[in-house]
Amino acid sequence: MRSEPTGGPELSGGGSPLAGAAEPADATDPALGRVRPGQPTPGATGRVGPGADEGLAEPDGLGRRQRHELWMRRALDVAVTGPELPAERAGADPLATGPAVDDVPVGAVVYGRDGAELAVGRNERELTGDPTAHAEVLALRRAAERLGRWRLDDCTLVVTLEPCTMCAGAIVLARISTVVFGAWEPKTGAAGSLWDVLRDRRLNHRPEVYPGVLAAENATVLRAFFR
Ligand SMILES: [Zn+2]
Repeated sequence: MRSEPTGGPELSGGGSPLAGAAEPADATDPALGRVRPGQPTPGATGRVGPGADEGLAEPDGLGRRQRHELWMRRALDVAVTGPELPAERAGADPLATGPAVDDVPVGAVVYGRDGAELAVGRNERELTGDPTAHAEVLALRRAAERLGRWRLDDCTLVVTLEPCTMCAGAIVLARISTVVFGAWEPKTGAAGSLWDVLRDRRLNHRPEVYPGVLAAENATVLRAFFR
């Protein structure tokens, strides 16, 4: 089955001319990196500190937008080539590292407070036969394992596609401070499309959300898969 979690031709390319029209009417302008009307604005939620990159010095000289794009390119690389990481996954089961042709190419990366890469994940649902083996869940698990704690409140999760309800729930449970995602997913998205689990004010944890980063490129990779 290739019908989930992405929507193939309905994928939105964010602000791109490719599929901008498919984006929900109240969606954030990806070019501005803002959240939607009525939702907490990054930097206005009072959270400045670990993982919340508002106003923090940039040792590498990159602005936030540039850094998000750099991170997204890494996530896109994971989506396309698989989660193999020489330093972190050496010795891992080879079957779990190479890209599986039947799995929708979604990639996720967790970055620590200092911007160091902690863990990656690629959608492995078909490869492992595990309905929960989405890129975000795998990356969260590996990051938690590496840090030796479930609480990832100083971390940023970068993922090429808008998280589904399961992954958005896992992100909230992990206390991830910042989420950066690529293409919108109008069919299953839970970060603004169908639901907005990440910024639901009824929850006691709400990460900052930066949608639509390299949305067109991410959508192109997904469309190519479904073609
Ligand atoms: Zn998911």
